[in-house]
Amino acid sequence: MSDSIFTKIIKREIPSEIVFEDDEIIAFNDIAPKAPIHILIVPKKQIPTLNNATENDAELLGKLLLTCSKIAKMKGIDERGYRVVINCNEEACQTVFHIHFHLIGGKQLGWSPD
Ligand code: 5GP
Repeated sequence: MSDSIFTKIIKREIPSEIVFEDDEIIAFNDIAPKAPIHILIVPKKQIPTLNNATENDAELLGKLLLTCSKIAKMKGIDERGYRVVINCNEEACQTVFHIHFHLIGGKQLGWSPD
C-alpha cells in the first residue's frame, strides 16, 4: 500500500498543525476546516476505510474515540458539544483513504446529512 497523505504527515514529510500524538495516534487541524474546531484523529496504522477495520483493530478504534473526547476537553468544547464523524467511501464523501475521525465543534452545528 502506498503512503496516504496522512502517513506522510505522520512521517513529517508534509507539514501539519499537530494537537496530539502518542505511539498509535496522531491528531492535527484539518487543512480546510468546516467549523472553528475541526481536528482529524488518525491512527498511525494505515487502515483505508472503516470497512477494512477488523476485530484486531477494536482496541485501537476505542482509543481513537476516547482521543476525540480528550481533545474536545482540551479545546474546551466538551460541555458545549461537538460532533465526531467517520466518512466511509464515495457516497459519504471520503477523500483520504486512511481511516480518520473528524472532531468538529466550536459553533452551533446544524443536523443534516447533507
Ligand atoms: P474525508 O473527506 O476523507 O472524510 O476527510 C479528509 C479530510 O482531510 C478533509 O476534511 C480534508 O480537508 C483533510 N485534508 C486533506 N488533505 C490534507 C492535508 O494535507 N493536511 C490536512 N491537515 N488535512 C488534509
